[in-house]
Amino acid sequence: MFTIEQFPLPYATDALAPYISQETIETHHGKHVATYIDNLNKLIENTPYEEISLVDIIQVASKNPDDAKIFNNAAQVYNHDFFFHGMCPKCDTKIPQEIIDAFGNEANFKAQFKNAATSLFGSGYTWLVRDGDQLRIINTANADTPIAHNMTPILTIDVWEHSYYLDYKNKRADFIDTFLDNLVDWNFVSENLKQ
Ligand code: MN
Repeated sequence: MFTIEQFPLPYATDALAPYISQETIETHHGKHVATYIDNLNKLIENTPYEEISLVDIIQVASKNPDDAKIFNNAAQVYNHDFFFHGMCPKCDTKIPQEIIDAFGNEANFKAQFKNAATSLFGSGYTWLVRDGDQLRIINTANADTPIAHNMTPILTIDVWEHSYYLDYKNKRADFIDTFLDNLVDWNFVSENLKQ
């Protein structure tokens, strides 16, 4: 039997400041993510879900409407793990050539990603995914995740208000610009492109 464990952050809670404050990281990772993990472990206790991996929980629960709560909490754990690992403090990494080739240039990729993330209504995530043989930018609502739709995640930004509100208030676009210009770990992106 598995217990889903809180994933550790790959950096200190104050390492992304001033772009994301220590308070935001502590609240987001230490409280929001911790709650999704607690909820998930309670929901899967004494069910077949406690015998399978997090990714398998998401795949199976996505096909069972009665298990929407399990899907939502499991997908939130996966999405947050992916989001937090996609950033690095003071990282000096370069956007991969494959993204430049797919979107024309770096500015055009960032403009399309930003446009998707600013136009996402309500809570959710903007993703760069591989869908078949194409790189695409997509939005997912609430807890939804590309791995429930046969797409391979490459990069994501969490645009739930809890992700930026303490630092950026209502200015989601400023958070998105900061994420793209100062926080993305392009080495993480490159590794995902190899899969
Ligand atoms: Mn979040």
